[in-house]
Amino acid sequence: MKNAHINTIIDTITTPAWIIEERRLRDNLEIMDSIKEQSGAKILLALKGYAVFSTFDTVSRYLDGCCASGLHEAILAHEEFGKEVHTYSPAFKEEDIEAIAKISHHLVFNSIAQFQKFAPKAKAINPSISLGLRINPEFSSSPAEQYNPCGLYSRLGVTVSNFDETILELCEGLHFHALCEQDSSALAEVLEHFEAKFGQYIPQMKWINFGGGHHITRKDYDIEGLIDLINNFKAKYAIDEVYLEPGEAVGWEIGVLVATVVDIVHNGMELAILDICAEAHMPDTILMPYRATIRGSGKAGEKAYTYRVTGNSCLAGDVMGDYSFDTPLQVGDKLIFEDQAHYTIVKATTFNGVQLPSINILEEDGTLRCVKKFGYEAFRDRLS
Ligand SMILES: *Cc1c(COP(=O)(O)O)cnc(C)c1O
Repeated sequence: MKNAHINTIIDTITTPAWIIEERRLRDNLEIMDSIKEQSGAKILLALKGYAVFSTFDTVSRYLDGCCASGLHEAILAHEEFGKEVHTYSPAFKEEDIEAIAKISHHLVFNSIAQFQKFAPKAKAINPSISLGLRINPEFSSSPAEQYNPCGLYSRLGVTVSNFDETILELCEGLHFHALCEQDSSALAEVLEHFEAKFGQYIPQMKWINFGGGHHITRKDYDIEGLIDLINNFKAKYAIDEVYLEPGEAVGWEIGVLVATVVDIVHNGMELAILDICAEAHMPDTILMPYRATIRGSGKAGEKAYTYRVTGNSCLAGDVMGDYSFDTPLQVGDKLIFEDQAHYTIVKATTFNGVQLPSINILEEDGTLRCVKKFGYEAFRDRLS
């Protein structure tokens, strides 16, 4: 389809479907580009949150590479993105380390034991690789315990009491990741704790990685605050290279998930059943949990007609939430879930045999490109 308006596309598209708007993706990347320019920081895409590689031509024009969480993401970064590959895993396995070391520019270990076990080997395989350690600053104001890497008994990163200076010989960088959908003021607090605990080691490092969770592209994010923090940090420690690795902020508000109302039933209230599944296609609505926005809807009772909006799996709790609408829903109506490009496509499953949404890209000239359709085979091929 050429030169079509997004509303026409939504009216005619076969559901379920994700639609990513390239223009919005580029708006996010422009913001990151200006942060890079004003701070000298390098910015990586965290594949964990967004990995629609059909858009990587665009992303790689702005960002410096990808951060990968293991072998498969590292290969995707290497093959589809083609710039810096930074690989960190909570626990690398012996059989993966050679392939990972060959294609990674930075390799970050999660524990002293893993560093000691794999650092010399990685260096032998790839002499230009830069080795680092993830540390735990033991401070995070993350909004949910599920997303707090510094919480009680966290396995993520080395605490200062577990730090072992013998790794310093091969260690060129420190990495922390302690934010979740947060502003630069939260980064300032984490940095204070990081510096208080690990400050003595910073000047001997080549790079420091500030992790992800920076909600850079949210409208009220304090971008100037971030730029100041990075510039002050670099000046204070004479460190040239500071990395950020946002995932969500790259895919923030760039895409929608379009679903169709398949049936409406009544049991104490009106229940709309869609051709998508909360558990399989938007799992954070259950896991986090959060309420996705449906275009044109209000909270329960706010508008004239309230429905519990539900999924088509047999899971009783397959519920997106209660929403109200100006007019009654009809079978065949399309519902547009906003902001569904990050932490959805990467997490989707074929649970219960439900149809996976197709992946579509609306290019800047109005061309709609369907880059992936899923059928029965997608369900079968994960099973045996
Ligand atoms: C999840 C994760 C990121 C990306 O986090 P966002 O919240 O998507 O920005 C970056 N680095 C690490 C180590 C992560 O685990």
